[in-house]
Amino acid sequence: MASWADDTDPATPLDLTAELARDLIRFDTTNYGEGRSNGETDAAEYVAEHLRGLGLAPELFDSEPGRTSVVVRVPGRNRDAGALVVHGHLDVVPADPETWSVDPFAGVIKDGLLWGRGAVDMKNMDAMILAALGDILGAGEAPARDLIVAFFADEEAGGVLGSHYLVDTRPELFAGATEAISEVGGYSITLGGQRAYLLQTGEKALIWIKLVARGDAAHGSRLIRNNAVTKLATAVAAIGRREWPIRLTDTTTQLLAEIARILDVDPQRVGPDELALATGTASGFIQASLRTTTNPTLLKAGYKHNVIPDLAEALIDIRTLPGEEDAVLAEVASLVGPDIEIVVMHRDIGLESDFGGPLVDAVVGSLHRHDPGAPVLPYLLSAGTDNKALSKLGIRGYGFAPLRLPAELDFPGMFHGVDERVPLDALVFGRRVLTDLLSTY
Ligand SMILES: [Zn+2]
Repeated sequence: MASWADDTDPATPLDLTAELARDLIRFDTTNYGEGRSNGETDAAEYVAEHLRGLGLAPELFDSEPGRTSVVVRVPGRNRDAGALVVHGHLDVVPADPETWSVDPFAGVIKDGLLWGRGAVDMKNMDAMILAALGDILGAGEAPARDLIVAFFADEEAGGVLGSHYLVDTRPELFAGATEAISEVGGYSITLGGQRAYLLQTGEKALIWIKLVARGDAAHGSRLIRNNAVTKLATAVAAIGRREWPIRLTDTTTQLLAEIARILDVDPQRVGPDELALATGTASGFIQASLRTTTNPTLLKAGYKHNVIPDLAEALIDIRTLPGEEDAVLAEVASLVGPDIEIVVMHRDIGLESDFGGPLVDAVVGSLHRHDPGAPVLPYLLSAGTDNKALSKLGIRGYGFAPLRLPAELDFPGMFHGVDERVPLDALVFGRRVLTDLLSTY
């Protein structure tokens, strides 16, 4: 079946990467969290079928009905080198079509971009992985080292039913692996008018808590001082307004020094937040990597205008710097006071790896062969990825989904955002850089 780069320009054939990403977007793999999901099975079958077409024998794993992950091992030229895990996730966060300018699950191609939920996070990279593998195997060649290619379920709910499930129940799938690459890194930003790339070398820790306030149920006209909604609102405001102090880690120290060097400013005189702001569209991620954040994200209470409910609940998304989880939890408890119950729904560790060594050198080399001279900077992801689960097996993970992007596109802002879209030529660039890396490292 023919497919085209632009609905208005049927003369340009679509690159395979865009075709695969578009097809994956059309599987609505929405993960609502708290165990509710549309499931990943159809997308997993599609990926597996494509892998079989490359002569591989992928295995499918269901942690629960509908929650499917795919894993395949690709033999490399050097069987003695540590294997590299190349992974993506198949689920996406929900999208409200009312707020989008296109149908989020139609895989629309418009103005030279692919639009849809997952175009950024991360069906783009899923497609790049498949296309790069095809380029290597299709040429009758093999990757430089063994690859363990994985497409996980459930990343958007912490990976419990995807990466963590496989790492805990089938660790032999990852035997021999030493390093991993995946999402939220490798994309370009504009820094002082110059294109630079961010390589993700660490991740903050996460703690997802629920606050529970209990009070007296009563008629809405009564004099009730023990009101669950009022108590919850006070606690939520205290957490939401907390300004957590800046603390630099090895990664952020190195990043800020590099930014200062590129901008030719003195890092002793220009503050961390100001340096972070110079990264433009990426500053939302980078400012959040300089401190802990505690964001209220969901409220639940009440059922009728004139009834005081006895229960009110809030979800708080806490992201701490690596190693600060317990201290932050203790401070959150003291902020909300003893009358509010704190339930830890999910927590996971932070990670930090050196910005150096053979893999980092290879990543920089691959980028420079396709975008000569562009600086590559380390950064600490303010969010988390499936690299957390793999780290339980001693696998060191990086975020490297290479994309050369136009300066005006707010790419970081589209993670979990509205109108997710990725330029078609960025997908082609990513396919080439990834093929280069997997062929040479
Ligand atoms: Zn993601």
